[in-house]
Amino acid sequence: MRGPATDEVLIRRWHQVQDRIDAADAVGILLGGGADLKYLTDYEAMPLERITALVGRATAGIELPTLIVPELEEARVRPRPSVYAVRTWGDTTDSATTIASALPRRGRIMVSDNLWALHVLGLQRHAPNLEFVPISEAIGGLRSIKNSEERDALAIVGALADKVVAQIQHGEIPLLGRTEAEIANDIADRLIAVGHDTVEFVIVASGPNSASPHHDPGLRTVRPGEVVLFDFGGRFEGFCSDTTRCVHTGPASAEVLAAYEVLATAQEAAVQAAQPGRPLAEVDLAARRVINAAGYGDYFIHRVGHGIGAEIHEHPYVTELNTAPVQVGHAFSIEPGIYIPDEWGIRLEDIVVIEADGARHCNHSNRALVEV
Ligand code: ZN
Ligand code: ZN
Ligand code: ZN
Repeated sequence: MRGPATDEVLIRRWHQVQDRIDAADAVGILLGGGADLKYLTDYEAMPLERITALVGRATAGIELPTLIVPELEEARVRPRPSVYAVRTWGDTTDSATTIASALPRRGRIMVSDNLWALHVLGLQRHAPNLEFVPISEAIGGLRSIKNSEERDALAIVGALADKVVAQIQHGEIPLLGRTEAEIANDIADRLIAVGHDTVEFVIVASGPNSASPHHDPGLRTVRPGEVVLFDFGGRFEGFCSDTTRCVHTGPASAEVLAAYEVLATAQEAAVQAAQPGRPLAEVDLAARRVINAAGYGDYFIHRVGHGIGAEIHEHPYVTELNTAPVQVGHAFSIEPGIYIPDEWGIRLEDIVVIEADGARHCNHSNRALVEV
């Protein structure tokens, strides 16, 4: 079992962030709730309109960051005096006053991507000499490197999702005559039954709906002779799974089979390209070249992958524009897709973690287009 982060781990992370603040010519950070705040404090804030924030300075004599919480939530916060100071704001006061008083008076402040515009705009009125810039590159960069324990956690949660994939591929989950929404509910229950703590999302897209990459499972009934695309993930002990497999109800056409062969070849090419030191863009391009060469380039309409960890989507983003290098400890999806509008769509998604000798799969379910 993975316990809560120790004070030592949190302090080390904070010092790394302070270095990044310095390097970005900023004077402080302001994080709203969410994965970044949890990464630095191990505290999970309530995602409501009352702001919880972590405020910290690069140096300026203030060593520890300050966790600013609504007064009524103070009792939820575990005191960790060697990691952070705690300050509260009351329901009848303006939270911006409390936050502004913990920030420097002027300079560049790095704010988390998910800080509400409501709060940033309020602070801008209180502290007109502060410049707010996004922190995503700095902290996303830190969170994107997983240690070996975190990489193992991703393999463990990946194996849980694989169990549900196997149930689909073995025909244990009835498809024909059921709606996408019914099947999605069934899968959600099974994600929990195999051991996930929570379900993050379930996509079930049948027939022409499979051509919509983020289809919302609806009232369409699965019929014989079509693609059914499944993409789902859950969370176990703080780490996320995310995998995509397609099945075919009855025999697939020669066209779909040929396209699936291209897709599987493209995915394998991307996995092979995911070597430490090579550009992330090369991972995307390795898959894209295979799909382009087969004439399906116009139908591969998204990046090949995204980082994963405490969040389903996080840094690094594996796009043809991201020239940053693949690093040992990165964890990301490799999920090429081919989508023919109004006809069919296919995607194949595995999570990999990067070790010194290349990509290690976190998913091991059958990668073929299984006929059910
Ligand atoms: Zn997606
Ligand atoms: Zn997915
Ligand atoms: Zn994904």
